[in-house]
Amino acid sequence: MKLDLLAVAAHPDDVELTCGGTLLKMAQRGYKTGILDLTAGEMGTRGTAETRAKEATKAAKLLGVKWRDTLGVPDSDVQPSRQHKLRLAAVIRELKPKTVILPYWEARHPDHYNASTLGYEGCFLAGLKQLPLEGEPHRPFKILYSTAYVSVRPTFVVDITPQYEQRRRAILAFGSQFRPKNSERESRVFLAIDRLEEEMNQLARHYGQMIGVKYGEPFLQKELMQVEDIVKMDVRSI
Ligand SMILES: [Zn+2]
Repeated sequence: MKLDLLAVAAHPDDVELTCGGTLLKMAQRGYKTGILDLTAGEMGTRGTAETRAKEATKAAKLLGVKWRDTLGVPDSDVQPSRQHKLRLAAVIRELKPKTVILPYWEARHPDHYNASTLGYEGCFLAGLKQLPLEGEPHRPFKILYSTAYVSVRPTFVVDITPQYEQRRRAILAFGSQFRPKNSERESRVFLAIDRLEEEMNQLARHYGQMIGVKYGEPFLQKELMQVEDIVKMDVRSI
């Protein structure tokens, strides 16, 4: 299978929370999209790896994703090791994505920033001809970083207003995380996850407002943007 767009993240539900609306929007445009979860999320406070796998399949369906898999990296121990990079490179060679979305390279959670490095270096390795790895060498044309979890200024924002409700459904498909039983909620430990879904919705509103729409998802690219027609540029200045 050849993908147009592949989103890579550390845990199942990271993609839904950070760039789910964008993935759905691109699927609606006819692009073939995919999600690669590096871990199965087995170290999460709530839900087992099996439950989260079922939830991930449901969420992928809601986002119109054609391909989703787990790389099998241990949760809470995502490292840009040679072994993991080679496994990721093999997936990149198999799927040949044109564009890859990675997490931003600075984060509170070590799995998130390590996922960024592992993702970038895996994409780089996939293009090396001499690599002792099956498949044709392939490197994505474009790498975008999702900045939704961090407060850095994004390069651009994707309007996800029409996709917002479906994105919400995809996030809530992770029932073990965001709709826990009351008994599980009565933990004495403060869980950031109890506020995460709400916070991500507020962020979508915040970034939407920054471009003059209702809901948006932020991204950063290291390269400069090239513009062909400055008369047709989006986002009002005054
Ligand atoms: Zn995560």
